[in-house]
Amino acid sequence: MFDRATFLPARVVSQTPPAPPLGDFPPETFAHHGHELIDWITRYLREIESHPVLAQTTPGAIAGALPLQAPAHAEPIDDILRDVHHVLMPGITHWQHPGFFGYFSITASVPGMLAELMATALNVNGMIWATSPAATELEQVTVRWLAQLLGLEGEWFGQLTDTASTSTLLALAAAREADPSLDVRGRGLAGRTDLPRLRVYCSELAHSSVDKAVMVLGLGHENLVKIPVDDVFRMRTDVLEARIAEDRAAGYRPLAVVATAGTTGVASVDPVPAIAAITAREGLWLHVDAAYAGAVAVAPELRGVLAGVEGADSLVVNPHKWLFTPVGCSALWVRRPDALRRAFTLVPEYLRTTSGAGLDYHDVGYQLGRPFRALKLWMVLRAFGAEGLAERIRAHNAMARDFAARITATPDWSVVAPVDFSLVCVRYAPAGMSPTDADELNRRILARVNASGAVLLSHTSVHDRIVLRLAIGNVRTTAAHVEQAYQALLDAAAVERSS
Ligand code: PLP
Repeated sequence: MFDRATFLPARVVSQTPPAPPLGDFPPETFAHHGHELIDWITRYLREIESHPVLAQTTPGAIAGALPLQAPAHAEPIDDILRDVHHVLMPGITHWQHPGFFGYFSITASVPGMLAELMATALNVNGMIWATSPAATELEQVTVRWLAQLLGLEGEWFGQLTDTASTSTLLALAAAREADPSLDVRGRGLAGRTDLPRLRVYCSELAHSSVDKAVMVLGLGHENLVKIPVDDVFRMRTDVLEARIAEDRAAGYRPLAVVATAGTTGVASVDPVPAIAAITAREGLWLHVDAAYAGAVAVAPELRGVLAGVEGADSLVVNPHKWLFTPVGCSALWVRRPDALRRAFTLVPEYLRTTSGAGLDYHDVGYQLGRPFRALKLWMVLRAFGAEGLAERIRAHNAMARDFAARITATPDWSVVAPVDFSLVCVRYAPAGMSPTDADELNRRILARVNASGAVLLSHTSVHDRIVLRLAIGNVRTTAAHVEQAYQALLDAAAVERSS
């Protein structure tokens, strides 16, 4: 039973029996705690703004408050839930808070959370079609729906992964196997005198997941060529062309280009149509990372973000970023599933089935175990509808534009990158202050704002200068929260400048 004042499970009297000697707890135990937890979650969401956005803790404090060893004997679930509240909650940074503007702000929306609960209860592992046909087929349907909603044309083979990092890794693995004569899958890369070093190209603003993918795939970090950006942070295609030509002349083998539609730092969109023309001419794989900004294409008038993607070989968009789907949902589409299959298909006897008809998703990725991710995306797409999603994204973009306009009109503040979506990068630089001192001042402003607990922003560097990022993406964020962020920045700047 929950304590009425603190809404915590009462410590002394456990309302449910302890763990039975064998087997799981009875469903009644789930019902008892489940109802209480639903109430707890409801209250958490209703009162989320009473929490400081940023975790109020110090490194090691949470771990230090927990026992060094797992318990030898069963503990009452009430006691465990109390510890969640007392020990863990102070160490939670509240990504569900509408004042969360850091990194790329996200949401586990109500339909998404309901689906997660169901997926956990079903606990299917959709590693092959037969192990849960509905999971596989709903995933096929959902990625097809999403492709339609984003306006993707032509044939795409889609799947859901945990993160854009995995999606990009799979895409580049497919790129590596796209030319069967390289036979990297079979023979590896090391010690090959017949195989030139393979090169991948991306802009200097591409996400670090691209770096990690080339590292994991054995291509070598130094074979990832970072192409400089122009004055609006888009990959320079003249330099891309020149680097490819130089590399060929020097004996390298260009393999793939990763273009970003919505860079992490400033949300710039690389010129994908021009890049696609180059990759087509050069015979390279083109992967488009639209993990964040791709979501805006659900609004038909914003589909320009994916212009040129018809010339790409693969595309990633993360529903867990800006499509209100709980974390752990990235959509990857490829034009050439044959290349993915060449990279990953390997069927041991114990996974062979006679059904023959269904898609076995483990054939197109490195993971076997597969949670029922499609359920949450399907719930979100249905419960909000395409128009509902588009309206929310438009509202976020409008709030970002308003915030940018206010910053621009504020002395000593500037917006340092175009605001095409819901990300605004700002910098405080009082006249006469050196850039280095202004960097330090912006860091202090950020720390002060985040310590306030009302809102949370993050930072990046633009042209080697520190800038503060305000990313709107939480479905519960309103103009009032953005106004709060604006005021928090101004207040922090005033205090820090005079200190
Ligand atoms: N690509 C871009 C453009 C991103 O902004 C991010 C994360 O912010 C990623 C990839 C990596 O996403 P994930 O955390 O899903 O791996």
